[in-house]
Amino acid sequence: MSTETIRESILKKVTRTVVKLGSNVLTTPAWKLDRNVFTDISRTIAKAKKKKGDFILVSSGAIAAGMGKLGFAERPRLIPLEQAAAAIGQISLMALYQRLFGYLGCTVAQVLLTHSDLNDRRRFLNARHALNSLLDFGVIPIINENDSTVVDEIRFGDNDHLSALVTNLVQADLLIIMTDIDGLYDRDPKTCTGAQLIPMVENVTAGIEELAGGTKSNISRGGMATKIAAAKTAAHFGVPTIIANGKTPENLDKILQGKEIGTLVLPEKNKLTSRKHWIAFTLKPQGEIIVDDGAREALLEKGKSLLPSGIVRVYGDFDAGEAVSCCDRNRVEFARGLSRYGASDVIKIKGCKTADIKRVLGRCPAQEVINRDDLVVL
Ligand code: GLU
Repeated sequence: MSTETIRESILKKVTRTVVKLGSNVLTTPAWKLDRNVFTDISRTIAKAKKKKGDFILVSSGAIAAGMGKLGFAERPRLIPLEQAAAAIGQISLMALYQRLFGYLGCTVAQVLLTHSDLNDRRRFLNARHALNSLLDFGVIPIINENDSTVVDEIRFGDNDHLSALVTNLVQADLLIIMTDIDGLYDRDPKTCTGAQLIPMVENVTAGIEELAGGTKSNISRGGMATKIAAAKTAAHFGVPTIIANGKTPENLDKILQGKEIGTLVLPEKNKLTSRKHWIAFTLKPQGEIIVDDGAREALLEKGKSLLPSGIVRVYGDFDAGEAVSCCDRNRVEFARGLSRYGASDVIKIKGCKTADIKRVLGRCPAQEVINRDDLVVL
């Protein structure tokens, strides 16, 4: 099948799309909101909504717009200054979206998230219900990280990653990442003349990740590497991603018509359920459990639960119910899961038979350290 036919068949089935807009797309070099880009995007989405269903925006640009208002030439290094810029810029960003979408008869809503809003399953589901109810009203939710309150420990990292998590949150069927270059190239287009755009990526292999590694940006937290990582995360939820240039007018419109713009990253065939995807990609592992070869094989090949007998070492200080990485003896992570025991208890029962847990701990709340239902092989 040609890449064009693949795109058409993906676009035909789309009912809910997440569009991520980067700071470099939305602002001018002087850190002003680029009205032309906003106009183009709002027109395209207002029109496409009628045929393609729901749209959710993940919009960066708050810090950049705030920098413009404060007269900063460079991104501030001090967190309170960055937070101030975000608070000032976020309101300008939303005012412009509200005005332009308003002219087109569309209502927008602001949703600001921090990682801690999503790292508890109940809060994750509450956020999903809130977004679904906005979508039921025909509203376009515009999501950003809550940059004015966030600190490193509760940060998503970058909005590319956030957009991939949002595909699971709203159960979207397409992710479009608009950036300031045309897509993924076979060599760094900034340094190599003759670098070719890659129209389609079937699997995000280590080679693809390496290609993406070199391209960095001056204002956004991400570069091409974080876009490819986001596409990989979305792919595990069965969602295709298109990475394209949002500075070129009408690109979004062309993408939504199925035209071959940017790089399409295909979804994985074996998609994870929403809950397993949340365990593997939304939660941040709080520690590592090192297992022996037998346990590794049981988890990888036989789909078993992790028992204390296969555990050889524990790193980190996690509580019962928190996410942990499962690593082999070389500390290479191969699975993630929710530990039923806290780190101090896992240290005590490691190497023990399940029947001995009660004797060692004085209680046995679970037979296994990670139940197979809470475990995702990476
Ligand atoms: N949330 C940031 C902003 O609105 C952007 C983060 C990123 O660049 O990924 O400025």
